[in-house]
Amino acid sequence: MPEKENKNLNSQTVTLTNYNVCEGIEIEDQRSGAEIKTKNSLTVKEVSGTGKKGAVKIDIIVNYCKGCEICVAFCPEQVLVMNKEAAEVVDISKCTKCNICEYLCPDFSISVEG
Ligand code: SF4
Ligand code: SF4
Repeated sequence: MPEKENKNLNSQTVTLTNYNVCEGIEIEDQRSGAEIKTKNSLTVKEVSGTGKKGAVKIDIIVNYCKGCEICVAFCPEQVLVMNKEAAEVVDISKCTKCNICEYLCPDFSISVEG
């Protein structure tokens, strides 16, 4: 596990040995189309486009999604569908960036930015 030095609130230097866990959502590394691997080997499906309120990006962390379909059911614009693996964006052009999907997801699997 890589190590990282950081300053705590008292300006002391602390060495973090497991920092990848905290930064698991940070998206970097190995971009391949709409599927991104994080440092923690999470798979994020990213879809960007122009929605009803302008530019929007929806990320779904496939590993965290348990397929409850709450986001699919409550999205007022039918932007999302359920596939075998996880929720999926089918029509980003309808997204209004209301963030309902993000607020309701019990597993913090989906995020909407714009
Ligand atoms: S932000 Fe709103 S419109 Fe866009 S996918 Fe989520 S629930 Fe649907
Ligand atoms: S609400 Fe969250 S866990 Fe449930 S299907 Fe949507 S993304 Fe997956």
